[in-house]
Amino acid sequence: MSISSDVRVADSSARRTVSLAPAEANSNGLLFRRHVKPPVSHAELEHSRFLEGEFWRGIPAYSEIDRETFLDYSWQARHSLTTTSRLRHAVGERVSPAFLDDVELGFHQAPMAMRLSPYIVSLIDWDDPYNCPLRIQFLPVARRLMTDHPRTHLDSLNEQEDAPVPGLIHRYFDKALFLPISTCPVYCRFCTRSYAVGSDTDEVKKLSFRVNPDRWQQAFAYIESRPELEDIVISGGDAYNLRADQLEEIGLTLLAIPNVRRIRIATKGLAIMPQKILSDQAWLDAVTTVDQYARKHQKDMVIHTHFNHPREITWITQQALAILHQRGITVRNQAVLQRGVNDTAETMTQLVRRLSYINVHPYYVYVCDMVRGIEDLRTSLATAIAIEKHVRGYTAGFNTPTFVCDLPGGGGKRCVHSYEYYNRETGIAVYVAPSVKPGPFLYFDPLHSLSETTRTRWADEQEQRLMIDEAVQMASAGHRS
Ligand code: SF4
Repeated sequence: MSISSDVRVADSSARRTVSLAPAEANSNGLLFRRHVKPPVSHAELEHSRFLEGEFWRGIPAYSEIDRETFLDYSWQARHSLTTTSRLRHAVGERVSPAFLDDVELGFHQAPMAMRLSPYIVSLIDWDDPYNCPLRIQFLPVARRLMTDHPRTHLDSLNEQEDAPVPGLIHRYFDKALFLPISTCPVYCRFCTRSYAVGSDTDEVKKLSFRVNPDRWQQAFAYIESRPELEDIVISGGDAYNLRADQLEEIGLTLLAIPNVRRIRIATKGLAIMPQKILSDQAWLDAVTTVDQYARKHQKDMVIHTHFNHPREITWITQQALAILHQRGITVRNQAVLQRGVNDTAETMTQLVRRLSYINVHPYYVYVCDMVRGIEDLRTSLATAIAIEKHVRGYTAGFNTPTFVCDLPGGGGKRCVHSYEYYNRETGIAVYVAPSVKPGPFLYFDPLHSLSETTRTRWADEQEQRLMIDEAVQMASAGHRS
């Protein structure tokens, strides 16, 4: 029996006339050409092994918590930490008081408030919290904060300018972003919408999009009045925080609008509290109902989630994603590239492979937005380009993320490679977005990635203008670098 052009069963009927390289039998009696691919080591299959067991018991506050309690989403929600004093109490003597003081100072300067589920607290490496990729995403430490690039903004994507009604962003021709809620099961330091999401901080008074059915009706009416709108993203905030009946109402109302063909439910919840999929039957059923309604009407519903590091994926995540997969629900991932979190080819490749393993499509990797207060998290565009080169080719194209830059000022997402001009010395990249808005649009590398001389130039307003004018002129003249 022929299995492929270069494989034969070693029985007497096998034809041996094809000119193959020297072959040897393996334990199943199959003959393979030798050395087409060298054997892989156990370590190279690390992506398929997940954190097992009751890992949370290493945290003093959870040492007595049994499996059933830890898998209960309502226990996770009720015990999420929102203040540094509660964090101190939870981690106890596992962590030095000096580190926790540093966190407290960090929050005084942060645009985002604190919210951490016990699940995430349990996954943080408290033996090395300064360098832990999960801690870096959610807990600012004053000692590591950096001066913002002068071109950062609170609303860096200029979303408010593209909002025809409060909480609805219509930027792309056929797609709109609906923000029905402004809370999340976690607060990420790098949030694009730090101008609106979560509680007020010392730094930012939020423009809040609270749950408000009257406001939702305005958004539905606008969507219905625009026949070109076929694709609606339900974000926030985070759809995980909508009640089951609210999610179902929003999903079914949108799908019943004749022009709407696709909806996407955006939630980071799968990375932060996979327990909800295992134990909140009403919410899971609401998502399933919306998905089935979409299919019945030849429309589409997808969950977009947000894992940034392979360590965020555990046996609990694997079980949650298996349930969604069994129900036929498609899940895609949108990661954010962050310094010290996932800015190496090894980590990003591992993330992509682990996501693929649990049937999550690694759809996008975003260059970190130019929002205030997170300069230490941003990477240069060159870093994104270099990592993409290594990730591409590791696996199938449909499981390979596109690395994108969401253009400051509202030009939408562009593949990082598609810049018109990129000066690695000044850190200025120029893009155009002809189908979205007249440009040009500029992305600026973080100051820490630039030379001392260039950093001095960015401190001077006149020099800033010179560098920007030069970049725009070079782009207009057709220079790539
Ligand atoms: S979950 Fe999303 S919307 Fe919420 S804070 Fe994180 S990035 Fe922002």
